[in-house]
Amino acid sequence: MNAPVDPKKLIKGATGDWEVVIGMEIHAQVTSKSKLFSGASTAFGGEPNAHVSLVDAAMPGMLPVINEECVRQAVRTGLGLKAEINLRSVFDRKNYFYPDLPQGYQISQYKSPIVGEGEVLVDMPDGSQITVGIERLHLEQDAGKSLHDQHPTMSFVDLNRSGVALMEIVSKPDLRSAEEAKAYVTKLRTILRYLGTCDGDMEKGNLRADVNVSVRRPGDPFGTRCEIKNVNSIRFIGQAVETEARRQIGIIEDGGTIVQETRLFDPGKGETRSMRSKEEAHDYRYFPDPDLLPLEFDQAYVDDLAAHLPELPDAKKARFIAEYGLSPYDAGVLVAEREQADYFEAVAKGRDGKAAANWVINELFGRLNKEGLDIGASPVSAAQLGAIVDLIGEGTISGKIAKDLFEIVWTEGGDPRALVETRGMKQVTDTGAIEKAVDEVIAANPDKVQQALAKPTMLGWFVGQVMKQTGGKANPQAVNDLLKSKLGI
Ligand code: ADP
Ligand code: MG
Repeated sequence: MNAPVDPKKLIKGATGDWEVVIGMEIHAQVTSKSKLFSGASTAFGGEPNAHVSLVDAAMPGMLPVINEECVRQAVRTGLGLKAEINLRSVFDRKNYFYPDLPQGYQISQYKSPIVGEGEVLVDMPDGSQITVGIERLHLEQDAGKSLHDQHPTMSFVDLNRSGVALMEIVSKPDLRSAEEAKAYVTKLRTILRYLGTCDGDMEKGNLRADVNVSVRRPGDPFGTRCEIKNVNSIRFIGQAVETEARRQIGIIEDGGTIVQETRLFDPGKGETRSMRSKEEAHDYRYFPDPDLLPLEFDQAYVDDLAAHLPELPDAKKARFIAEYGLSPYDAGVLVAEREQADYFEAVAKGRDGKAAANWVINELFGRLNKEGLDIGASPVSAAQLGAIVDLIGEGTISGKIAKDLFEIVWTEGGDPRALVETRGMKQVTDTGAIEKAVDEVIAANPDKVQQALAKPTMLGWFVGQVMKQTGGKANPQAVNDLLKSKLGI
């Protein structure tokens, strides 16, 4: 709490510097075929009310039955967050009225959540790392959806989401900038996707954030926070933090005080606005749901799930650095998505790891980005890219020709090694042919030769000319050596 404040993170106000303090509540939809307490489907995009059981519609006398898969996913997530798993937890009723909540209460966990304290290691773009504390993770039901735009005078309700399992993951107020808040959610999303416990699809609302923001003078106790509800993209999270911090600083510097309230972020207007104040906050009258027994399992169940977790991003990153000699930055880029990391490993196995990383990150990812494609849709397979890396490594093609070859494989497909043969792309290592080109370039440019004698960095120009002359196929090392000896530099 009292760690020295990094001046770069401070916000300049009219009367001095301010520190922003952020804590997040993330709602993550559990990956599961059926709902938390019913067998209805969780499929996205069905006809309204197509996936609603009598339990989800809260018909009188219906009883909830816990879905074991959702429990398993919550425990696995807790393990991925290095968190304490509670062998006994309790489901509570959170009572409120809303048209899309037919039960009149949401089943959630209040005092005894399934997962307790944990932590997330977050990599910042500048290479530094921060640790963000997790307060808790609990299971709860999602509500339905009110539709106000279907009819001029009526509102409709779609209960497809009603009863879908959510994990609410609450962080400690450990974040200190918009950048950190964005990086935290990005990392959390990566971990959930590795575990396969939430698909992290923010556009579908499967991952959404309530962002709590307060400001203070460095070293002061925490200020009063405002909660910005339901922010549904990483970019908006950053914008919401910045706008809200500015708003609060403005109020305090003008002699006002912050009232604790719930606010909404309007990305169009770039502002947050009040939704309800603390005085209007609901009294939910939580109490243990009498229809559900406390949730209990034993340590052996937890240990078994722990033993079968996949390799998670932090471990994978450390292994990529140690095993393939990658920079922490490159390793971080590769492990951000599991499919990317798998692709890289398929290319790197048995090859030069750094060369493989370079091709995957710069050429492949660059090209995929340009086309707006996911790694799964890459026209160049890991085997094909591996063959290209081999061809460069063994000196059959130059790095420059390799880029042309990559382009051919991308657009036309085919076996890279065969393509090199049929299209005559082989690197010229025959010194006779290279020497001929070198001699021609020297003979054609006597003025440049004079310049090069005075300024040896001119060598690069000659290398370029020879490469041009040989259609990029000359071995660059041989060109360099020959030029140096012929020019006498
Ligand atoms: P509540 O139960 O009222 O929702 P919590 O203590 O559970 O309050 O906090 C909710 C979220 O608000 C947590 O993510 C926490 O880190 C964050 N938070 C708490 N105090 C502050 C503060 N002063 N500034 C920013 N965030 C805060
Ligand atoms: Mg809360």
